[in-house]
Amino acid sequence: MPEPAHAPATPLAAPNPFVLRVNLGNAIPETDVRTALETGDMGFLHSFTTGSTVDGPGVRVVAWTTGCMWRCRYCHNPDTWTVTNGIPVSVANATAELAKYRHGLKVMSGGFTLSGGEPLMQHRFAIKLITAARQMGIHTTMETNGYYGEKLSDDELSTIDLVMLGIKTWGADKHRALTGMDIAPTLAFAKRLAALGRPIWVRFVLVPGLTDDPADLAQIAGFAAGLGNVERVEVLPFHQMGRFKWEKLERTYTLQDALPPTVEACQHACDVFRKAGLVAH
Ligand code: SF4
Repeated sequence: MPEPAHAPATPLAAPNPFVLRVNLGNAIPETDVRTALETGDMGFLHSFTTGSTVDGPGVRVVAWTTGCMWRCRYCHNPDTWTVTNGIPVSVANATAELAKYRHGLKVMSGGFTLSGGEPLMQHRFAIKLITAARQMGIHTTMETNGYYGEKLSDDELSTIDLVMLGIKTWGADKHRALTGMDIAPTLAFAKRLAALGRPIWVRFVLVPGLTDDPADLAQIAGFAAGLGNVERVEVLPFHQMGRFKWEKLERTYTLQDALPPTVEACQHACDVFRKAGLVAH
């Protein structure tokens, strides 16, 4: 699919994913959006950011996709929930953008991370872009909630060097209350990656009073340790940097009074994972 003639002038590059971006793909007819999602020849991106040291091994170039089927109460990028909030970009142009950084990424032992939003909402585009990165010799990471993991074949999964899997909480009811969706597909995806021997980094957002139940942490730790392919667990402290987006988008934000966890609370959470035999940061 050619680059849409009416693509907006907003540049793909952004200083960080906390820039609010909305309606950038609204001019694309619905049928073209559907075709894009089916073929993956065109995708929708919030932005490209460079120089990240927290989105995978080494220094990363990150493409932030739009579209997410979950509604996490602590989401810091709710503008990425809607596919057409993103910039429409052909897979060729997204690949060309990534190619600008290929040499630097190799020198710095870094790579390319596809994040979001939820990249598997655009699974055809996601796998085309990941494959293109791999063909350039770039290390590939996908950060995902795993809900649509079944959309990728085993061969396609083999093009992803590292999956950063978000496990948000434990238990069906708590998970639905936090994200709006079922936890089972995420856990099934983790087990499938384990069976395939594909590495995982687990990402867990620690929110005081919401996700810090010690019993839940122990359950997540036990599950992750039992997989055998979890290389590390990242405990991410909750923050309020995305709050303004909820307000601008006129969405109901329920965590206005939530505080970031203390250093001690983060350490305690890491200790729970370490006690299960995992590497945790
Ligand atoms: S899965 Fe990620 S992008 Fe989707 S709502 Fe949750 S935190 Fe936001």
